[in-house]
Amino acid sequence: MGILRIVGTPIGNLEDITLRALRTFKESDFILCEDTRVTRRLLDHYEIKTSTISYHQHSGELKVDKILTLLKEGKNLALVTDAGTPGISDPGGKLVSEARAALGDDFKIESIPGPAALTTAISIAGAGFDRFLFLGFLPHKKGRQTMLKEIIASEHSVVVYESKHRAAKFLSEMIKLEEATGISKEIIVARELTKMFESLYFGSATSVLEKLQADNNNLKGEFVILIKQNSKNKNKDEYGEE
Ligand code: SAM
Repeated sequence: MGILRIVGTPIGNLEDITLRALRTFKESDFILCEDTRVTRRLLDHYEIKTSTISYHQHSGELKVDKILTLLKEGKNLALVTDAGTPGISDPGGKLVSEARAALGDDFKIESIPGPAALTTAISIAGAGFDRFLFLGFLPHKKGRQTMLKEIIASEHSVVVYESKHRAAKFLSEMIKLEEATGISKEIIVARELTKMFESLYFGSATSVLEKLQADNNNLKGEFVILIKQNSKNKNKDEYGEE
């Protein structure tokens, strides 16, 4: 039985890759990629010739069967996403579960850790994120308001991923809810992490939205939004001690 290795890759800067990840790519029979063109750019940069197979959120049963067959034949596979660590807000987790269910105890899976947008953003956000709730992408329609209300009421810091089309929308929604509830949150927006236009915007939802809207370019790219815990919890450390 082959081994499935889950490999973290850069979230922007191609140098953010581990030696072990590069060796894994070279030694794998195939690399399963969310978008083969995106991963090929990384592989070309490091002159890695390993063949790629696409595996993404729309991959159906036939593709999964093909991957399982390769593992049964003893092929070693590496799984990557377009950015960061597979399994965080992308289809990686689904493949891991399906492979485990189909292949049972003989199946070996290994993690080759690397960056994630979530941890990269937290590393520069400052205090208040010893403990947090990660909600990934909020639903676009059904359930969105409920989750926004949970965020505003949360005693914990919250982290969400947003696409470029929705970062401003999210902040406008937070402003409305703040007006309705009287709760105000401190927000950090981390944009284009590790890339040329990496930027951090701090402050109230209103001031962060103003900063983003000050220049159309500020609304381009990829975003992690961090919402700090309510002030009554601010002085507690992760063990709840004052
Ligand atoms: N698996 C990835 C990870 O480890 O973070 C996340 C995949 S998810 C499909 C893509 C989302 O991650 C983007 O919409 C954005 O919210 C966030 N993201 C990815 N790269 C980023 C970057 N360089 N800067 C800010 N956010 C980023």
